[in-house]
Amino acid sequence: MTRWLVAGAAIALATLPACSARQRTPAEVSGQRPPPFPLGTGDAHVEPELLGTTHVVQKGETLYRIAKTYGIDPRELMEANGISDAKTIVVGQELFVPGAARALEVGPMPPGTVASQEPDPTLLPRKAGSATLQWPIKGVLYRGFGVKQGQPHDGIDLSAPEGTVVRAAAAGEVIFTGSQKGYGTIVILRHPNSLITLYAHNSAVLVKDGDRVDAGTPIAKVGQSGRTTGPHLHFEVRENTRPRDPLPYLP
Ligand SMILES: [Zn+2]
Repeated sequence: MTRWLVAGAAIALATLPACSARQRTPAEVSGQRPPPFPLGTGDAHVEPELLGTTHVVQKGETLYRIAKTYGIDPRELMEANGISDAKTIVVGQELFVPGAARALEVGPMPPGTVASQEPDPTLLPRKAGSATLQWPIKGVLYRGFGVKQGQPHDGIDLSAPEGTVVRAAAAGEVIFTGSQKGYGTIVILRHPNSLITLYAHNSAVLVKDGDRVDAGTPIAKVGQSGRTTGPHLHFEVRENTRPRDPLPYLP
């Protein structure tokens, strides 16, 4: 399931950066220490793809029912639109629905239901987390994992302002810090259970090779090093160095 996090309204969705991740020959990284495994197999991204659709609020619709219609957590819808009170939505308002392929009709309220009796999304229990990792930053997830239009993407892209602190997704050891073409300045962490996480396009690195980190330890700062059109974090999860979709590991 697609998840969205929004750090703030300052991020313009239309200007999200593209990022690049492709394999380099030894000659291309000459003078630089190679990472512990080959990075990337694809070519540069084209335009980033927004993973969702716009829903225009109609008369009688509530945020809760809109979220239920699209099958997403009401809080996710609130977070994606910077809404802190579900009751503040108005007719004609455009809501970004993360993960939705197309706009759906919400329809009239079922008979016997009253909007005021709907649960306050902020008070609903969160589903129990089996997540092994935590989010490295709060940013807009605008590109997912996997092949899109023939271009492999070994991680996810999270847009955030330059300088945003990047945090370790889990406790582990720093096994690589350095610069890689395409990826820019990267940090690689090794965790228990053969898990590896990689953080690319940083503007600064806050740890050294061999350092031990806890989950949440600041390790880098978001930047636009490497091939990218704007500040974002390219985040990879690998199991035995094989790229995996990070989302199932995240809360
Ligand atoms: Zn990327």
